[in-house]
Amino acid sequence: MIRVTVDQDRCCGAGLCAQELPTVFDQGDDAVVVLLDEQPADDLADDLEDVAFACPSGAIRVHRDQ
Ligand code: SF4
Repeated sequence: MIRVTVDQDRCCGAGLCAQELPTVFDQGDDAVVVLLDEQPADDLADDLEDVAFACPSGAIRVHRDQ
């Protein structure tokens, strides 16, 4: 199972996450990330880790539970 967390205080509103994975991430009126799905499907794991790595503010964490 995958769990995703975001740190809205760190997010700089670049929007990359919402562009790449719109089923998991959105942006509020202030452009700050909004997490739509805390437990995305397992087959999104690699894409989620790519987005977390690419996030310019390091605001996304992906946890893989056993
Ligand atoms: S990619 Fe990172 S900085 Fe950009 S909106 Fe998403 S969480 Fe915020």
